[in-house]
Amino acid sequence: MKGVTILGSTGSIGVSTLDVLTRHSGQFRVVALTANQDAARLAEQCRLHHPDFAVMVDPEAAQRLREQLADMPQRPEILTGVEGLEQVAALPETDYVMAAIVGAAGLRPTLAAAHAGKRVLLANKESLVVAGALLMQAVAESGAELLPIDSEHNAIFQCLPPYFSAGLESVGVERILLTASGGPLLDWPLERMAAVTPEQACAHPTWAMGRKISVDSATMMNKGLEVIEACWLFGTDTDHIEVVIHPQSVIHSLVQYQDGSVLAQLGNPDMRTPIAHALAWPARFESGVAPLDLFSVGRLDFQAPDLKRFPCLALAFQAAQHGGTAPAILNAANEIAVAAFLERRIDLPGIAAIVGDTLDAFPDASVEGQGVEFLLDVDQRARDCAERLVQRRMR
Ligand code: NAD
Ligand code: MG
Repeated sequence: MKGVTILGSTGSIGVSTLDVLTRHSGQFRVVALTANQDAARLAEQCRLHHPDFAVMVDPEAAQRLREQLADMPQRPEILTGVEGLEQVAALPETDYVMAAIVGAAGLRPTLAAAHAGKRVLLANKESLVVAGALLMQAVAESGAELLPIDSEHNAIFQCLPPYFSAGLESVGVERILLTASGGPLLDWPLERMAAVTPEQACAHPTWAMGRKISVDSATMMNKGLEVIEACWLFGTDTDHIEVVIHPQSVIHSLVQYQDGSVLAQLGNPDMRTPIAHALAWPARFESGVAPLDLFSVGRLDFQAPDLKRFPCLALAFQAAQHGGTAPAILNAANEIAVAAFLERRIDLPGIAAIVGDTLDAFPDASVEGQGVEFLLDVDQRARDCAERLVQRRMR
């Protein structure tokens, strides 16, 4: 039996993970579940999955969870705060950690899992964007396994040779083709972008996801974050990554080799496939996802991204090329701007404007030799700057 901790169990990825685990209950035991504030949902999950630990980051919500589970026989130990997350990410009885918290809030517990040498199933791409060097170093030093859950990166991982560890060139790869659906605004008239509502931005045509990543898909910042994520995971740079818009979301990404071969991974757009892949790896097992029916898909389309329509993608490429603190600043400003858009405080084009202005406000700085405290300080200062820019834009 493998013990599993799910960081962010009440979210979209967390729920899909529990679905896959339930299909293989003889092989896995849920050790810990965590959430930020949603005590009712976490209580329900505790009754169904009987974890040893439940973490509510918010102390008031933790109190509500205690009350809701008061009558449960053998109830989980309830922890709180980021310390609680770090603790359950590193428990000796935990073998696998699903990192599915949204945003830079996932960084500390994901790092804790990597330091503790766990199999880390990484959905939380923001932690690699903010602290790629630190996270990759922690994995290398502890012997942790880092398996990508993001569908594109999981696809690329599947298309690389099984003995791949670092250096795409050494295995004959010329470049990575990172597919993108283009999101719900792919064909919107550019002049109407300022009128897009949060509901429209979150109405993704092919994937059902949390609200933050849905907005990121609408702006294509999600693909930008994924370019940075791919650089770290596969030890490459932006010259070796091409973004390809593929609206059907059936091809999850491709790897082009020097001999002209292009390998792709295909499947229905359902995150249970990459989740099951990473849980079973290097074996395979059932995920609950329906088999792909190519006849009903009918056709596969491809187009190049339009950077005028999607300025966030251009900003992410620039940040990736600058390196240092730029990706952490990009991510922090984006988190603030997306939250402001979802609260209807700014319009959709305001997201790219705020991210661009925040990047401009900070001089390039190296992260060489720096620890997590330094990066979290950069993150906080970029958030403060982006929040001031939101308020200025609202006036
Ligand atoms: P979600 O909003 O549905 O869920 C987020 C989870 O994180 C919830 O359990 C929530 O309680 C927890 N959380 C939120 N803020 C927190 C905080 N400050 N501290 C601790 N916990 C907190 O998000 P999601 O769509 O499941 O995405 C999770 C991660 O997976 C993101 O990084 C996202 O980019 C990535 N991802 C998601 C999908 C998808 O299909 N949903 C696909 C690829 C990658
Ligand atoms: Mg993705």
